[in-house]
Amino acid sequence: MPLIIITGLPSSGKSTRAQQLHAYLAERIAAVTPPNSPPKYRLHLISDQTQGISRAVYDLSPEHLPAHVRSANASEKDARAALYGAVKRVLSPRDIVVLDGMNYIKGWRYQLFCEAKNMSTPSAVLQIGCSVDRAREVNEARLARRAAAAPTLSPTETSRPTENSPSSTGTEETNPPPTQDPITTDNNNPPPPDDNDDEPYSPSNWTNLVFRYEEPNPMTRWDSPLFTLIWDDSPAQTRSTFAALWDVIAGAAAKPIRPNQSTIQRDKDPGGDYLYVLERETQDIVKKILEGQSAEGGGEVALARVNGREGELVVELPGRKVGLPQLQRYRRAFVALNRGGIGLEAVGKLAAGRLRESFVGYLNDAFERDG
Ligand code: ADP
Ligand code: MG
Repeated sequence: MPLIIITGLPSSGKSTRAQQLHAYLAERIAAVTPPNSPPKYRLHLISDQTQGISRAVYDLSPEHLPAHVRSANASEKDARAALYGAVKRVLSPRDIVVLDGMNYIKGWRYQLFCEAKNMSTPSAVLQIGCSVDRAREVNEARLARRAAAAPTLSPTETSRPTENSPSSTGTEETNPPPTQDPITTDNNNPPPPDDNDDEPYSPSNWTNLVFRYEEPNPMTRWDSPLFTLIWDDSPAQTRSTFAALWDVIAGAAAKPIRPNQSTIQRDKDPGGDYLYVLERETQDIVKKILEGQSAEGGGEVALARVNGREGELVVELPGRKVGLPQLQRYRRAFVALNRGGIGLEAVGKLAAGRLRESFVGYLNDAFERDG
């Protein structure tokens, strides 16, 4: 089934909520599964930790790069590719995926939204609201614990993964740790401090990530529906947010998802003709936009759904002129997304029409997203 994208600042409590959500969903799945049958949904939790991705991949300072890494950006791109692969491998209408991570790039969230749509399965975003100061305190406490546990490590080295070691030095989290059962509070049996993976970010990496964070925007389709939990939300509030989430992804409010507009169903074996049509139609649209936009930019360009006819599709341009490089970038991304084919037997006018419609939908999203 569906994809739940967690997003929030670094060390803002995302994994804590992801685990609570996972436990909650497991309960709900058990409740909707008839006795002696296989579970109605399979449940997956995917995160940097499950993929063995270190915090250091987000570090853009060249001096913090491990020797084997090509460039700062490349290491993060590789990490995203690994996460994308992991999500894609399991995502299906019968699999609920909780993706725990910062997911701080709106273009990345958009890509995940498209992937879910492609699988005809819903997606939702759960934002973990936490003040910058509190999130920083959490990271600093983690850094202090690391430093105390391994006093010889330089700040750079603390950003590498090491064995999880519970604090034996008395360095406490500034904030109370969550309890064993994450939703029902049980103060008699507290877990060791910070039972989540506590690999800290180097201070400059952390600051930079906060700076780069792109807040979800509930007005956009790819960040909706958007749910929010804040640090102080009570167990009852948390449960009711989780219940609302369940409703949109699996419950009564779940709408059937049709792959359309910016995504189209892939076929197993697209022919050479299809790839040719994909190239030709997208190139044609790029060309028509460049020819059709006004001198000052902005406005709309009307395009034919099937080449050679009058306008039926409308591209809404951003408030400035768009250039060939930008359009080609979008075109290549769209081609990469749809190289696998579309669910149509015939390649011809029909497929070309759907491709054009789909690419126009993709461009409208991209302009809205990137401004
Ligand atoms: P992230 O995954 O964003 O790095 P974590 O979930 O690992 O953050 O949480 C960081 C620290 O804050 C952990 O020590 C965790 O126990 C604590 N924590 C997280 N959320 C809460 C909360 N809502 N209330 C109290 N402590 C929390
Ligand atoms: Mg985490």
